[in-house]
Amino acid sequence: MIIYNTLSRKKEEFQPLNPPNVTMYMCGPTVYNFFHIGNARSFIMSDVMRRYLEYKGYKVKFVMNLTDVDDNIIKQSIKEGTTAEEIAEKYTKTFFEDLENLGVKKADIYPKATEHISEMIDLIKKLAEKNIAYDIEGNVFYDISSFKSYGKLSGKNIEELEAGARVEIDINKKSPLDFALWKRAKEGEPSWESPWGNGRPGWHIECSAMSRKHLGESIDIHAGGSDLIFPHHENEIAQSEAVSSKEFVKYWVHFGFLNIQNEKMSKSLGNTITAREFLKKYSSQAIRLFFSQTHYRGQLDFYDELLTSTEKGLEKIINLSEKIQNEIIIGNKKGVMPQLDIDRYFQDFEIAMDDDFNTPRANAVIFDFVRDVNKVISENENIQVDFFIRANEFIKRTADDVLGIIDLNRSKKEQGKSLEHELIEMILMIRQKAKEDKNFALADLLRNELTKLGIELKDGKTGTTYKKNS
Ligand code: AMP
Ligand code: ZN
Repeated sequence: MIIYNTLSRKKEEFQPLNPPNVTMYMCGPTVYNFFHIGNARSFIMSDVMRRYLEYKGYKVKFVMNLTDVDDNIIKQSIKEGTTAEEIAEKYTKTFFEDLENLGVKKADIYPKATEHISEMIDLIKKLAEKNIAYDIEGNVFYDISSFKSYGKLSGKNIEELEAGARVEIDINKKSPLDFALWKRAKEGEPSWESPWGNGRPGWHIECSAMSRKHLGESIDIHAGGSDLIFPHHENEIAQSEAVSSKEFVKYWVHFGFLNIQNEKMSKSLGNTITAREFLKKYSSQAIRLFFSQTHYRGQLDFYDELLTSTEKGLEKIINLSEKIQNEIIIGNKKGVMPQLDIDRYFQDFEIAMDDDFNTPRANAVIFDFVRDVNKVISENENIQVDFFIRANEFIKRTADDVLGIIDLNRSKKEQGKSLEHELIEMILMIRQKAKEDKNFALADLLRNELTKLGIELKDGKTGTTYKKNS
């Protein structure tokens, strides 16, 4: 399996540090508002990666942090007339709700910044002992000149950056690029005690401290949106590697942006659509299929019409899956075994996903499968149940377990179908089978029993429909 590593700018063979274990850290949200579908793209694609690694048999430990102390949270608390803690609590709750509604698997741990202050202070102390961190009146900064490979992830040229950087007037930092590890407390803001006085941590130290605590000094995969490469991830490397003298992350993975009208979807540009709003209109499966039709590193332009065509595609998978489920219920043990080689679709799916999680190609394999199985069903009257069991397994393991574009447990309910409707459809299907087997007595019995319940059947060219007499 190969993964594109932002650090080397190349696709590399995936060799985890301690197989079959894989440690994966994903930069999570700052909890100060409902997250938007741009954020959702990153959350969903990291979920797909994790699910595929699990499909491959890896034991993945997946950690996603929550930034619950930050300037934006403080600003939002003033806007909503409440405390920063309440804002963080409210939007942490909505974050989990939305994530669940998007079908994103729960992380093993969701560490919160405010619950790891002592770990962050420890890390800053270690940096201070090595003369890498320096204190200016209760604000502590990281001296980037002490980290020789600063810039290696983003490929940025430090001299150029320094020349272009804005210098904050009242802070006398050694370099304008030196970033805050600890910020001195301000009136009315959340703060904690530290060796440098009361204050709160900088953003970057959070991820270094929390990944170190929960996954160790060196981790396999670190993921996030591509906006985080610089400065966030560059700074995480500087902090973590200066302390451990080990490589912090083996594979750096970054997600392309979701754009809307050629602009990045972002809160500051005011062009966001929240995942919550979006889920009122579309199913999570449609959203996931929409995202997986573009490679995770590519930019993706969003417009509503795309989702409509995505939904049509989704329906094809759902329809086939329902046919398959029904055939499994009927359980024909004696019929023919079609010559369609389902293993080949598994192989093609794996070839696609092994190539840096090529979900558009994996989707194409699934759609080929749907087309080919439908053909087999229309060409053969009497197919053995074993074929359907294997076909179901393919949909379950690829479209459901890995991509999450169909939920075999939920799809029928989501289409608004009632149990009653499902049961009637099932009886109609059994009746159809009875007719095919020339068991007309059973077919008539089923029709008569339904009539007694006020359900009238109408046989047409394309199948049987029913009407309920009230
Ligand atoms: P934030 O809450 O802004 O820190 O973002 C949470 C996650 O979503 C981070 O990994 C960001 O990089 C990612 N993200 C933010 N905006 C977008 C976007 N328009 N497209 C894709 N990912 C995004
Ligand atoms: Zn982070």
